[in-house]
Amino acid sequence: MSEQKKGQSIEEKQYLVRFNADTKSHLHVKDEDICLTQCPDKICTIFCPAEIYKWEDIRMHVGYEGCHECGSCRIGCPHQNIKWEYPKGGHGIVFRLG
Ligand code: SF4
Ligand code: SF4
Repeated sequence: MSEQKKGQSIEEKQYLVRFNADTKSHLHVKDEDICLTQCPDKICTIFCPAEIYKWEDIRMHVGYEGCHECGSCRIGCPHQNIKWEYPKGGHGIVFRLG
């Protein structure tokens, strides 16, 4: 067993899902003004299962680190205002099973 594995906590050894976040977001709101002026329902704050999108007074905060990579925001934004790419290789969600 490697040194790193020996040092793992019980929680780490039992993980089913974890995230290896990149330093750069793979999610971008293309035009903040559209969110502000043309999207009263801010539906991305509802359909995203990971609650990545949070409306903060006048802008959308995108907490990309916990993205489940389900792809819903590609089709769910009524204004096609979200640019979504797969995270770079080695980053993003990590499934232990499945
Ligand atoms: S659903 Fe699209 S347009 Fe509406 S707030 Fe979210 S990103 Fe902006
Ligand atoms: S891909 Fe899915 S989890 Fe990630 S931000 Fe879009 S809706 Fe949320």
